Amino acid sequence: MTARDQALERLLSGLDPEQREAVTADPGPVCILAGAGTGKTRAVTHRIAWRVLRGDMRGQHVTAVTFTARAAGEMRDRLRGLGVAGVNARTFHSAALRQLRYFGMRRFNGRLPDLVDSALKFTAIAAARAGLQTSRAKNFDLTTEMEWAASSLIGPDDYVSAIAAIGRDAPAPPEDVAKVYAAYVEAKRRAGVMDFADVLAHTADMITEDESIADQIRSQYRFFVVDEYQDVTPLQQRLLDAWLGDRDDITVVGDASQTIYSFTGATSKYLLDFTRRHRSAALVRLVRDYRSTPQVVGLANQIIGESKGREAKMRLELIGQRPDGPAVTAEVFADEAEEADMIARRCSQLIADGTSASEIAVLYRTNAQSQAYEEALASYGVPTVVTGAARFFDRPEVRQALVALRSAVKADIGRMPLLEAVPAALEAIGWRPDAAPSGGAQREAYEAVTALAGLAEQFLEHHRANPDEDGPEPDLEAFCAELSRRAAEQHAPAVEGVTLASLHAAKGLEWDVVFLVGLADGTLPTTFARTDIALEEERRLLYVGITRARERLQLSYGLARNAGGRERRLCRFLAPLGLGGFPRLPEPGAAASKPRERKRAKVLDCSGCGKPLTDARDRKLGHCADCPATMDEALFERLREWRVSVAKRDGKPAFTVFTDVTLIAIAERCPGSDTELASLHGIGKSKLDKYGPAVLHLVNGGEVNEAVAMCGEGP
Ligand code: ATP
Ligand code: MG
Repeated sequence: MTARDQALERLLSGLDPEQREAVTADPGPVCILAGAGTGKTRAVTHRIAWRVLRGDMRGQHVTAVTFTARAAGEMRDRLRGLGVAGVNARTFHSAALRQLRYFGMRRFNGRLPDLVDSALKFTAIAAARAGLQTSRAKNFDLTTEMEWAASSLIGPDDYVSAIAAIGRDAPAPPEDVAKVYAAYVEAKRRAGVMDFADVLAHTADMITEDESIADQIRSQYRFFVVDEYQDVTPLQQRLLDAWLGDRDDITVVGDASQTIYSFTGATSKYLLDFTRRHRSAALVRLVRDYRSTPQVVGLANQIIGESKGREAKMRLELIGQRPDGPAVTAEVFADEAEEADMIARRCSQLIADGTSASEIAVLYRTNAQSQAYEEALASYGVPTVVTGAARFFDRPEVRQALVALRSAVKADIGRMPLLEAVPAALEAIGWRPDAAPSGGAQREAYEAVTALAGLAEQFLEHHRANPDEDGPEPDLEAFCAELSRRAAEQHAPAVEGVTLASLHAAKGLEWDVVFLVGLADGTLPTTFARTDIALEEERRLLYVGITRARERLQLSYGLARNAGGRERRLCRFLAPLGLGGFPRLPEPGAAASKPRERKRAKVLDCSGCGKPLTDARDRKLGHCADCPATMDEALFERLREWRVSVAKRDGKPAFTVFTDVTLIAIAERCPGSDTELASLHGIGKSKLDKYGPAVLHLVNGGEVNEAVAMCGEGP
């Protein structure tokens, strides 16, 4: 046997029969259609190596397109491991840019347009030219919409009719978007710049319009591989067609059940139609899941088994290949802060027990959710790597909010009680607690600032829960100092860390341990998914998340978003499954939670058994979960009713009146005087002045509406 045969045999030895069929298929169109973790990426990598080692072509003749630059790097590494060098493994964008830089000079008369550093800047110019009032966030949404249109091969003139035809919601009146879009194209042209989509479009134009460039590019690149083919856009497909010309040596791999980028214009139709477009194509299906334990695979099958629509037609049932692992766990926490705290604690335990931080991921639906985890993990000293988004304190709206808070310190606002000062200061940047925009980047920005405002409440609670910090109530200045400290701590460089990623950014990747968090209906699926088609994409996102786990998978959500807030339901895709731990029906207002430790908590003993109290909630109540004081349920309900009315009347979130825990403490102790009331945690001087008489009235059996009238009018 020659050395070459040995190398080829070695190459095939790590593959199952179907993977081998895909790897060794004759040159020409090949479509690998397979579920998550079945070795698609592995199969294409081996197919490239197979073709090169057999002598069909050199590595330099291969273009392998991956979804992210990180995936491209991984593919090059794997190929090097298989003894193959020189493969052009890139994203569509990077492959196109390279060709444009190389061949485009002639076409652009020696002056290639510069790549725009910020498309947002041009959107702002275009919006102004179109006479539109916009904000940074609105410009962001307009930019995203124009990217979608360009990726979908829809120009400014066709925009209005195209979105009407598919019933798409525009981020502004469609005629306005079209005007901005036209002005945007013009602004780029005048400035001599190109954006992301232009890079692909110019490259495709260059190849289709210039025969000699087409000849050169096609003789260089002879064999094409596209990973994650279920998520290509019409514009990317156009470029791929230009690359191929009338040739068909192309291998595509994808999983329609993982189509999750439709919002960018990506569509699974090219994957699903591949064998119709290429009649001679070899079609290989892979069903053996090598990544995950049968426990994880079972759940993934259940979720995707219920899917509907075009993508569901091709779904395959995965067959787990690995030995049994731990059961998938499911947990409900009182609120999002507690969820983040518990998950962070688990991560720190896992790392202490020997799991490498880089083998752990926390995955969530929207980037705004990263903040709570960045914070919580930092408080346990666990380093993090945030994928696909700016860190919380680097977000422009958070920076603006910090400036607004700091500049209010020396003004009148700085002398107000903290929980009033924060919203007052944030009004300067247009934030109001009850004015959430409906979606998109504006909503994300709003949520980020809301999260920042929520830290004020946490900060106060922490102060009150720590007897040695009983000095004056922290004011805005102290809060700003606290924020600076947090921001500084989080900027510590993270080398090896727990990955924090949105489900979108987690595609194609895998970890030993995965925490899928925030699985509340309204977050996943997002409230913005209103059509069946949009909901199906949310289901696929959950499927992508579940299938990232090799060994351990934990699912969770916080009942309320903020302490004392409205309770939410479990993600609708999981609710019917009756997973152990889900759903755990809470008692009214009581937090369904495991004990958790506060890092800086001081010793305080249980009024029942005398054991030290470590859980923040227990500490506020003054007793541990095992020694429950009996609560006056009726009083608790009346207190809640009163709180809702006051909060509504004053236009602020309910928790800023009192948190649930404080209401429970009142309903347990039934205080008879101001002094007794003041001894409860969560009731400082300002709350006592404002709400004390009303609370005592309720404790004494008074009417709720009378109690509402008794506390000071709203601002
Ligand atoms: P995704 O849909 O998430 O992109 P995929 O189908 O691309 O998944 P890979 O990432 O290629 O799957 O493989 C998943 C895991 O299974 C990897 O760790 C890979 O090394 C392993 N694997 C794949 N095929 C085999 C095999 N035949 N034997 C052993 N391990 C395998
Ligand atoms: Mg893959």
